Parts: sequence; C-alpha cells; structure tokens
Amino acid sequence: MSLSSAREQDMTGSAVASRKAYEVRSLRFRYQPLSRGAENWVLDGLTFDVEAGEIFGIVGPNGSGKTSLLKLMAKVLGAQAGDMALFGRDLGAMPQVEVARTVAFVPQESPQVFSFTVMETVLMGRHPHHQGEKWSAGFGWESAEDLRIAEEAMQYADLTHLAGRSVMDLSGGERQRCMIARALAQAPQVLLLDEPTAFLDLQHQLEICAIVRRLKEERGLTVVLVSHDLNLASQYCDRILMLKAGTLFRLGPPHDVIDVEGLRDVYGCTVLIDRHPESGVPRVTMPQYRAVKNSGNSL
Ligand code: ADP
Repeated sequence: MSLSSAREQDMTGSAVASRKAYEVRSLRFRYQPLSRGAENWVLDGLTFDVEAGEIFGIVGPNGSGKTSLLKLMAKVLGAQAGDMALFGRDLGAMPQVEVARTVAFVPQESPQVFSFTVMETVLMGRHPHHQGEKWSAGFGWESAEDLRIAEEAMQYADLTHLAGRSVMDLSGGERQRCMIARALAQAPQVLLLDEPTAFLDLQHQLEICAIVRRLKEERGLTVVLVSHDLNLASQYCDRILMLKAGTLFRLGPPHDVIDVEGLRDVYGCTVLIDRHPESGVPRVTMPQYRAVKNSGNSL
C-alpha cells in the first residue's frame, strides 16, 4: 500500500462524513487556572472551520496564541471550553492514537536526544498504526508495508540519499524535511506545521513550501501552518486566520486578511503593502527607517 492509498483507506470512514477537517466552536484555553477572577485566557472564544484539502495559515504577533491553538488541534493540549470536531468527530472524545492516525504534528523544535538514522526516525511515524502491538526498541515491529510507506515519505521529502545518516548530522533544512517525512509516514489526513521555515535560508524555505503545495495538490492533504512570516502565509495559504491576543481578528483569503489598517491594529505598526509580481497576493514590506524627535515611536 502506498502512502496515499494508506491515507485514502483511512479516509473511507470518518473523513468522508465531513468535508470540514476541523470545526472549532467557542474555543477557550488557558495554561493557568483563573486566579481571583483574572482573565488570563490564551485563546478566547475562537470559532472557525478548516476545509478539507486547504492550506490554512495561522498568523499573529508573538504571544497571540498560534502555537497553543495548533497544539489544541493536535490534542497535545486540551481546551477548558468550547468544541472541536475533526472530520465530524468530537476531538475531545477521540483516543490520542486515533488522532495520531489522522493528524500529524510537526512542532517548532523537535529535540533529537538519540542518534537515530533518518530511516529510523521516519519509521517512527508508523508507530500509531501499531497500537496494541509490542513496541520493540530494535524496530522489530515494522512490516514491509511500513518500510514502503517510510521510503515513499523519504522520497517525497528528498531524503532517500540520507536514509542511513544520523539525524544529529543533518543541516537545519534536512532535519526539517526529516520531521515532515516522519509526519507523512503517519499517513495523516491533516498535517499541522509550527513555523516550518523558521531558521531556514531562502532555498530551504522554498523546498519546504514546495513540499507543502505538492501535498495539497497531489494528495489532497489538509495543511494547517503557523507562521510569523506574513509573506509566506500570503503566498502559500488558501485562507489565513489572524489572531489578536487570542481572539479571531480576521479569517479569509490573503487579500481579505492582509492590509495596512489590519496590520496596524494587530501588530501596532505601519507597513507597506503592494502585490506580489507573479501571484498578485498581498506583499508586506517594512517601511524605511525614519528617526523621530523625542525618542517617540517612528512607526
Ligand atoms: P504564539 O505562538 O502566538 O507566539 P503561544 O501560543 O506560544 O503564542 O503563547 C501564547 C501565550 O501563552 C503567551 O503569553 C505565552 O507566554 C503563554 N504560554 C505558552 N506556553 C505556555 C506554557 N507552557 N505555560 C504557560 N504559559 C504559556
């Protein structure tokens, strides 16, 4: 079975029931319990849908709740209030292993403590499909099908030539592709990416973006990506959710979400916005520096 057919087979049940990958209703989340009535919600009353097969961007200033929202969508965290459905099923009621067969989460940093090879790391993505079986430290559990799916995932991420290399010895771009390949080996229907291009140079950013587009176009995968890079989100996302202090500020296609007034309101600064010369989507540029008297805010 190929990576894509494994995914299609998984989709015969719940996925077909709903074309919405996620339905999020009145979601509220906080890390600490409320103290003396203080309002310390990190996410406060979010309602939105993610359509199956779209690239959905989550943007917003530092601390606006992007990563927390992604972790809630991966069920790494649990919300205090509200509802979230994954392909029509109550996410809160789904066992974690079932979520892991549907959703693959690539966090911002994946600390690599042990020196596994790329192949071994990618194979770990098959683990949710072996629930209830003996987890062998020697990777004795993998079937021929697991190996084929892992190899296909490595091909997709252009890692085949590095299969035997330790993950410790990869460059930043290679390591990120390895984490994406491991996520693909899960044969997920949804890929959640937290800042997938952070710390990567231009070429490696382009590689990751190309993989994401191919996953959508060739496999119909739903991709939810968090990014602080508004231009990347504008260029690659079908729709963008812009968070402001844990609330939904705007949601829609890039040209509905990214404009000068909106960014001033959310980020507190004035930027220049024109159109991308090829795609015509909004393009954000920093203004020229202008010194202001009395050390006032020049922005
Ligand atoms: P973003 O991804 O937009 O930068 P985060 O979701 O990481 O935002 O953080 C939102 C808020 O939650 C921030 O105020 C942050 O300090 C706080 N926060 C994040 N992680 C934790 C945690 N583990 N414990 C307590 N507070 C946290």
